[in-house]
Amino acid sequence: MEFRVGQGFDVHRFGAGDHVVLGGVRIPHERGLEAHSDGDVVIHALCDAVLGAAGLGDIGRHFPDDDPRWRGADSRTFLRAVAAMAREAGLAVINADVTVVAQAPRLAPHVEAMGANLAADLGIAPARVNVKATTTEGLGFTGRGEGIAALAVALLGATG
Ligand code: MG
Repeated sequence: MEFRVGQGFDVHRFGAGDHVVLGGVRIPHERGLEAHSDGDVVIHALCDAVLGAAGLGDIGRHFPDDDPRWRGADSRTFLRAVAAMAREAGLAVINADVTVVAQAPRLAPHVEAMGANLAADLGIAPARVNVKATTTEGLGFTGRGEGIAALAVALLGATG
């Protein structure tokens, strides 16, 4: 089997709000994430990893943030669309691994639900999607609570 690997990275800054959406999970917080869509950095990073592995560019190319169709969009629709694009290109997602970087809110109680959402949207078994969270020990923009970052890698295999 031929394998393809891709990586993704995304950041959104905190703004007004009372919750964040990460990996499709709504998590109460004293601030929200500023974004054209729902600001789901986890899904945006994962979309870029899958698109990167498939050689299909990036999320901004497929879902431009100046397109009114995507205002306030549920990012899970992006991930489902990206998974379909990979399938159409003859590629299956074998596994994905995501790291969320945030000083707050505390994410450990939510990583399992995030992984289940991501796996469902990719159309693969939950065991093939790993989500983990880390702080940066108070350092840098995430440590200062200015925003949340996410990194993702995805491995795809040719089905044809
Ligand atoms: Mg984004």
